[in-house]
Amino acid sequence: MHKPAILLIYTGGTIGMVKDFETGALKAFNFNQLLERIPELQLLDCSIDTYSFEDPIDSSDMNPEHWITIAEVVEKNYHDFDGFVILHGSDTMSYTASALSFMLKNLSKPVILTGSQLPIGDLRTDAKENLITAIQIASLHQNKIPVIKEVGLYFEYKLYRGNRTTKISAEHFNAFTSPNLPHLAESGVHLKINEHLLDDFYGSKQLVIQKELDTNVVILKIFPGITQNVLDAILNIPDLKGIVLETFGSGNAPTQFWFINTLQKAIDRGIKIVNITQCWGGSVDMGKYETGTALKQIGVISGYDITTEAAITKLMVLLPKELTLSEFSQAFQTPICGELIIEE
Ligand code: ASP
Repeated sequence: MHKPAILLIYTGGTIGMVKDFETGALKAFNFNQLLERIPELQLLDCSIDTYSFEDPIDSSDMNPEHWITIAEVVEKNYHDFDGFVILHGSDTMSYTASALSFMLKNLSKPVILTGSQLPIGDLRTDAKENLITAIQIASLHQNKIPVIKEVGLYFEYKLYRGNRTTKISAEHFNAFTSPNLPHLAESGVHLKINEHLLDDFYGSKQLVIQKELDTNVVILKIFPGITQNVLDAILNIPDLKGIVLETFGSGNAPTQFWFINTLQKAIDRGIKIVNITQCWGGSVDMGKYETGTALKQIGVISGYDITTEAAITKLMVLLPKELTLSEFSQAFQTPICGELIIEE
């Protein structure tokens, strides 16, 4: 019987941290110690190899260079392993999960991100359950084919589609949610898989990683009282190429002339603007209210129900292709791997 082979990739985060007794602050510690802390891992029905960042980082320091490093580790080991589990700080885990989902083209094996709210050595830690079940999920096979063939995020008993998640709590173990897509699996007495939600986005093509990402992007959350000065300053950032515009409700924004005109000028200069909602759930529908129609008319692109994390990383991945506005709109509004659902 073939035992699934899992590669555990340690990037840093609370899961592998210890307290500095002098300062009381949490700092990263040696990955080998992490494995020593969980002897239960040896009981799992899979073989586990490990790869660690030379300098594990707090996920607030994660950037596209690190995403490329992670993608390259997956690529280099793709044929030798049946699944990958990435230990990552929870703060920016949804950004990394979203970015990897777009960068790992043709992925047909599980890549599961997990972490914890309390360090692995803490008495009440959530790290053990998260790590053990993430590995179990990455090992699941049916007729020698992996059950999960995408980038997932496992936290506090639930597996989510990675690019659908967002961090919602700095306090609770239940730190993530997926506002517009139910979880893919749940761990209780049994491991329940919501098979109808699983997808095989790419079929069995060769894995290719996209290493080019354009970071000339910004997230602009509008608010009542936003001034022309603020909008001008942001839209005139040198080399800016893409904006995630977080609007009200179903994609609505002020209709004042200066507001629409400033956006229009940016679009005319080639800046791509994607409209997503500030709401916790739901979708953009720019035809619903007059306040959204104006945006549609000037060429603002609907992000439908995409998260902020997925929208900004999708922009970074699509911008290097140097598409025209209509090609870009088409590309952004076409789901790559389940990150948005188009509401008709
Ligand atoms: N600051 C930590 C990080 O994101 C928090 C965590 O791991 O949960 O790296």
